[in-house]
Amino acid sequence: MVAENIQNIKENIEKTCLSIGRESAKVKLIAVSKTFPAEKISEALVSGTIDFGENYVQELVDKRNLLLAKNIRWHFIGHLQSNKVKYIADWVYLIHSVDSESLAEEIQKRAEKANRIIDILVEVNTSEEATKFGVKPAKAIELLKNVSQFRNINLKGLMTIGPFTEDKNASRESFRLLKSIFNEANNTILTKKPMDELSMGMTHDYKIAIAEGSTMVRIGTAIFGSRITNIN
Ligand SMILES: *Cc1c(COP(=O)(O)O)cnc(C)c1O
Repeated sequence: MVAENIQNIKENIEKTCLSIGRESAKVKLIAVSKTFPAEKISEALVSGTIDFGENYVQELVDKRNLLLAKNIRWHFIGHLQSNKVKYIADWVYLIHSVDSESLAEEIQKRAEKANRIIDILVEVNTSEEATKFGVKPAKAIELLKNVSQFRNINLKGLMTIGPFTEDKNASRESFRLLKSIFNEANNTILTKKPMDELSMGMTHDYKIAIAEGSTMVRIGTAIFGSRITNIN
């Protein structure tokens, strides 16, 4: 099941890229495994997927311990509390959800301690839904400027969670806003080391996200099935 679903998604990514003239190798698939057991991750590994996204630090640490022997790139995509950074700092592959300077400061501190440079994305709340995390679009440039100064942080790009709606125009607007902040930052403050990743697109809106320039889609439901729990 899982392997078949991944195959389907990969084909959809190919088709979408082909229809708009984008190179499909530029769109990475992150399998979002939150709430699913380690066995499901093992199933996905069989189809060659090595990028997995998790939202909760404890759950991520537990699964990583079970799968230590596997070659996995762990992406942290949920809301990250500063006091939890220390549990993932030694090995996390990419943190998608940096949304404050204080969190970046803690990541800097822990990265320095671990003697590594941690790749991060800044999360922008492009739909400005009150329940969502992420920096407000109007505050994004300032945060990017500050975050880009940390020595042990490598600012790779931006992330957003599109609106929870079937309204394609609303999704498109969200992704365009993220892309425009990305362009503005690269053209003004980050000219020396421009960002190159846009993490946008989930099960319900990834084709639109790809059309709007996504380089990483984060897919859970379409790979692992619906989550029983009502958490994002
Ligand atoms: C859960 C989650 C996803 C995956 O969502 P699906 O709709 O199941 O594909 C992607 N990104 C984030 C930040 C999530 O929390």
